[in-house]
Order: sequence, then C-alpha cells, then structure tokens
Amino acid sequence: MTSAKDKTEEEWKKELSKLEYDVLRLKETERPFTGEFWDHKEKGIYKCAGCGAELFSSETKFVSGCGWPSYYDAIDKSKIEEKKDRTHGMIRIEVLCKNCGGHLGHVFNDGPSDKTGLRYCINSASLTFEKAD
Ligand code: FE
Repeated sequence: MTSAKDKTEEEWKKELSKLEYDVLRLKETERPFTGEFWDHKEKGIYKCAGCGAELFSSETKFVSGCGWPSYYDAIDKSKIEEKKDRTHGMIRIEVLCKNCGGHLGHVFNDGPSDKTGLRYCINSASLTFEKAD
C-alpha cells in the first residue's frame, strides 16, 4: 500500500470528493458557514479527511463566528505542520496534516486568551468526525 504522503494526485482525485480534493490538495477554502462542522457541537474527534489522522477534539472547539470550525489547540502538535503562507496578499500560517500533507486551514492568534490564544481555523471539508461513545 502506498503511504499517504506518496499518493499521486490521480490517486487522491479518485479517493476524495471534489470539494475535499480542492481543499486538501489544491489548498482552496470552502465558503464560510457552508461546511459540515462550523456549527457542529457533538463530542468526539475530528480526523483528517485525507488519511484519518486524529487532529482536533471537540474539547478545544469554540464558537469563533468566522464560519469555519475553530479550535484553540490540536490534539497532538506533532501530527500537524505549520507553514508560512504568503498567498492572497497576506502573511498567514498554513496548517497541514503531517501524515498526508493535506491542507487543513490556517492558524491565527486571535483565539481565546484564557486558553492558548490560538484559533485553528479549519475547513470542514478537510475533516471527518467520529462521535465519542
Ligand atoms: Fe492527513
């Protein structure tokens, strides 16, 4: 089996939906307030839609009002990669899945100040959800 990191774009295209492919592989952004999880409040774990890595927990999800699911922390920082992104005339920090290289979203420093102060602003299309028992 090919490891997630070595998959070809053709393989990804076959496996993912059009929206998942556009976001995870082409780094597009879903329109705010349209995704599956921006207003999702169940308890559980959010996984990478590309490879299944466990990335975010409902425990750190908060209402940011931005229209994308927002978390103040990742489950395990070693499972994500943060990269400077200079596209669209801004300097932002892109967040990627370390295991498969999929684009997740961006991290900003306007998160809850009583927690980490960070806001991981993540595309719903990059995530799947597994409900806690
Ligand atoms: Fe992944």
